[in-house]
Amino acid sequence: MRISAIVLLTTIMASSVTAQEAFYMANEGVMVSDGDTRILFDPLYPESFGQYLLVPEEMRRALFAGEAPFDGVDAIFISHFHGDHFSPEDVLALMQAQTGIALYAPQQAVLAMRSIADGDQQSVFSRVHAVSLEYGDAPVTLEMDGLLVEAVRIPHSGWPTGRVDVENIVWRVTLNANSTVVHMGDADPNDEHFALDPEYWNRVNPDMAFPPYWFFSSQAGRSILENRVSAKRNVGIHVPQQIPADPLQRPVELRGADLFTIPGETRRLR
Ligand SMILES: [Zn+2]
Repeated sequence: MRISAIVLLTTIMASSVTAQEAFYMANEGVMVSDGDTRILFDPLYPESFGQYLLVPEEMRRALFAGEAPFDGVDAIFISHFHGDHFSPEDVLALMQAQTGIALYAPQQAVLAMRSIADGDQQSVFSRVHAVSLEYGDAPVTLEMDGLLVEAVRIPHSGWPTGRVDVENIVWRVTLNANSTVVHMGDADPNDEHFALDPEYWNRVNPDMAFPPYWFFSSQAGRSILENRVSAKRNVGIHVPQQIPADPLQRPVELRGADLFTIPGETRRLR
């Protein structure tokens, strides 16, 4: 009895230490784990705009409480300051509740947090890393224990006529020098942006990329995924609710794509 209990516990712990996994929250909210190292992208936001899934209430509760699967989150990454990706209030409250979490976010998002933070909340900013990048700037690299963080500004979709002032960051993050993922925010699917620094994109073949689903809908988007981002696997995010989970019922250009559509679904990184 006792031996089987120890074997079971060991098995559970071993699997949690070796797991390299992506866990879908909603919209562009994704958690990536490599063993005990855990990061979140765009996990807290207020707006569905009538088309996108919100993070389920129980997931939000567990995140704020630091409970599984969100126990021991190391860092949060924000793609850009739009209501379907980021809530300054919620992220500030989470940083205050969970004092082991570091935040990486575009300057616009950090300024929004600073503008509403009260006296008690000032202390969280020692764990906040603002990235200030203009279009065309060289990517920046940041490091913390267990994480190599690379950031580049790729314009929001709608470029060059719309939303050009939005600081959209494409994050390339390597966990434990072992697993690399790319989260693209609302990147514009035009190769011009990626052709500015072919070396940067060539240097790494990530395990998994999370492009907004519209990258699968155009030849340019598919080519960027294949030739620039060059991840071994792509899982589309930001999928509107009206696009069915069943690939056969989707618009034809999305049938061959792997998409995150159901909160709580997972993919192994490899
Ligand atoms: Zn956006």
